[in-house]
Parts: sequence; structure tokens; C-alpha cells
Amino acid sequence: MIAVLLGPPGSGKGTQAKQLLAERGWPQLSTGDMLRSAIAENTDLGKRAKAIMDRGELVSDEVVIGLIQDRMGKPDCKAGIVLDGFPRTIPQAHALDAMLTKVKRAVTRCVLFEIPDESLVKRLSGRRTCLKCGAMYHVESARPKKEGVCDNCGSSPLVQRDDDHADVIRKRLSVYHAQTAPIADHYEQQGKLHKLDASRAPKEVYLALIQALA
Ligand code: AMP
Repeated sequence: MIAVLLGPPGSGKGTQAKQLLAERGWPQLSTGDMLRSAIAENTDLGKRAKAIMDRGELVSDEVVIGLIQDRMGKPDCKAGIVLDGFPRTIPQAHALDAMLTKVKRAVTRCVLFEIPDESLVKRLSGRRTCLKCGAMYHVESARPKKEGVCDNCGSSPLVQRDDDHADVIRKRLSVYHAQTAPIADHYEQQGKLHKLDASRAPKEVYLALIQALA
């Protein structure tokens, strides 16, 4: 199974990818998480990426394609892969196809998470993340048991991502519509596109996702 989760920022791709990892064992390949790790480790790549990410723009195709290529070569990617936040441009989608063809594999399914922009602004501006394990919370709809402390790993504080502020969210959404949404056509032409309503509760979305991948 090679699944591409496609959808705007905040549509729940990361949450669902984590669930697939827990239940099916397919690793979540999130270029956003990889870039945030590089930032946390203060690498040269991290320093360059941070400025771009803070503006809500996209890191270069070359950089993210390189990250995915390295990661896909690891042994845990043999049985299945869930791509979360990659590809994000048409050239990235073509590079992914070429990369997989070389190893006689192909994308199995692309699942498009559909949700109105206004719901996303609400979701993202209230989102809080654990710096240590990446678990996500929301100030209204998914509060931790103890204020500011991660239920999953017990660490604190829970922080707002730099790119989850209202002005940057708007920019990320416009970048999504201009550069990422056209990827749906790419997979539709290959007969691999499946759409789901991502405005529902995470459990319902997971059931729809499992059906889409069956
Ligand atoms: P995400 O965590 O997927 O929302 O990604 C956060 C930010 O990382 C994005 O707004 C981009 O700046 C950058 N990023 C993540 N994945 C990609 C990608 N495939 N191509 C370009 N930039 C990316």
C-alpha cells in the first residue's frame, strides 16, 4: 500500500496517518515533520526551511524530494507507506511517480480530504502541539487532561506552531489552492483518486479512509 493523503493544512491528514501507523504499521512520511526536525536540530537545511515555513510558503521541490527519497529507502517502508504532505506540487507528484517506477512500485491510492477553508482557519488557529512527541490538541475541541501537559508523553508546554497564526494560515491555504489542489487531477487521471468529507469527527474520517484504501 502506498497511500497519498492529499488535503489542505489542518484537514486531519497527520492525525489519520498516525492512526494508520498504529493500526496497520505503515510508516507516516510527513515532509512537514521532517522539516520541523531539521529546524529543531538547527541544521543548515532547518535554518533555511524555517524562514520559508514561517511565511507559509513551500520549501523547494528539490529539498523535499531528497528527503522523501532517503526516507523511502529505509526497510520499514517495504510493506506500506502513508505520504502526508507530499507531494505538494505537480513536479513533486511526477518525481514521486518516477522514484516509485524505478523500484517497480506505484502509488496505490490518493485520498483527498475535503473541508471548507473557514473550518480550517478555526481548527489551525486553535491547534496546540507537543514539542516532544508531536501529539496535537485544540484549545476548544481537544483539550489535554491537564492544562498545557501532553496526555501522550507527559511533557510540557504545548505550543502553537509558528505557521498556525491567522495571517500565515491564510497564506498556506492560498498556496494549497494554487499549487497543491491540482495534484488531485493528476491522480484522477490515473484512476486512483478517492474523496472524503474531512469535516467529520476523526473516528468517522478514519472509517471512510479505511474504506477508501480497501
Ligand atoms: P505541514 O506540516 O505539512 O503543514 O507543512 C508545514 C510547512 O512545511 C509547509 O507550509 C511548507 O512550508 C513545508 N512543507 C512541508 N511539506 C512540503 C512539501 N512537500 N513541499 C514543500 N514544502 C513543504
